[in-house]
Amino acid sequence: MDIAEVLRKNGYKVTPQRLAVFSAIDHNMTHPNAEAIYRTLQPRYPSMSLATIYKTMEIFAKIGVVQVLQCEEDAHRYDFNTHPHAHIRCVRCNNVVDVDMDQDALFKLAADQTGFRVDTVGISFTGICPECQKKE
Ligand SMILES: [Zn+2]
Ligand SMILES: [Zn+2]
Repeated sequence: MDIAEVLRKNGYKVTPQRLAVFSAIDHNMTHPNAEAIYRTLQPRYPSMSLATIYKTMEIFAKIGVVQVLQCEEDAHRYDFNTHPHAHIRCVRCNNVVDVDMDQDALFKLAADQTGFRVDTVGISFTGICPECQKKE
């Protein structure tokens, strides 16, 4: 995906900061929060503020290039993978990993049980990751 083109198409300016924030999240499997992205970009973009990262992520979420995760944490986390999937979070180290799920089957399950027209589903698991299990 060409992020510059997507920004332009949606009426947003293409700025070096926006491109830098996108490069920090693109194919980043760690589901970073704004602080983590800030720390990653700090050495190369010392003038970039945390507020800029929040604002940029808001734009990215609006134009559908990132997903904002509902983690049971104080800070939002961001995901470049916008396809429907679930997450599992390690309660020891806060590592977040993708879990594939059959969204259509879950929609059907909810619709069949309640009669709702289902719009969204959000599932998150918690547990202890393999790395932390090793330390036990
Ligand atoms: Zn862990
Ligand atoms: Zn994910």
